[in-house]
Amino acid sequence: MIKSILHHNRTFVSRKAYEPFVTDKFPEKKLAILTCMDTRLTVLLQEALGLKNGDAKIIKNAGGVIPTETDSAIRSLLVAIYELGVNEVMVVHHSTCGACHMSYKEFKPHMLERGIPESTLAEWEEKGIADWLEGFHDTEASVRKTVAAIVNHPLVPKDVNVRGFIIDSVTGELTEVFE
Ligand code: ZN
Repeated sequence: MIKSILHHNRTFVSRKAYEPFVTDKFPEKKLAILTCMDTRLTVLLQEALGLKNGDAKIIKNAGGVIPTETDSAIRSLLVAIYELGVNEVMVVHHSTCGACHMSYKEFKPHMLERGIPESTLAEWEEKGIADWLEGFHDTEASVRKTVAAIVNHPLVPKDVNVRGFIIDSVTGELTEVFE
């Protein structure tokens, strides 16, 4: 797969197919979006929201969540706010998200099967791997929790507008989740 990507890349550059995407590092709409890495959203999200290249900082992880106050998603949001001029944040979870039902109980046998030693897993269990890999089960509740994690974060300024949504993974329809 990577081989064919490299081949495509040479052609893309030599044909100057990048020209319609040229922009700078500042998000034109002063917007950041925290969302899921789900491949159904790769192009759909931007299209459904009417965003073009350069409009918004899009931060992705499994579920679009902020599991801890030092998580990399919050780090990226702080960079977006303080360095790149972002003043609005959309938290966008989506229907039938894979991160909804995930659980360490299900990861564990796969990890053992793939050669991770039992002793390593025991160490990580001490470190709280079960909570770390636990899904969120209730999508609306998870949106509210993630919005709250941003709004109440001690390093996020109070003038940043943060709103939560769920996007339909098929139609792209956005539904706002209110507090
Ligand atoms: Zn997802």
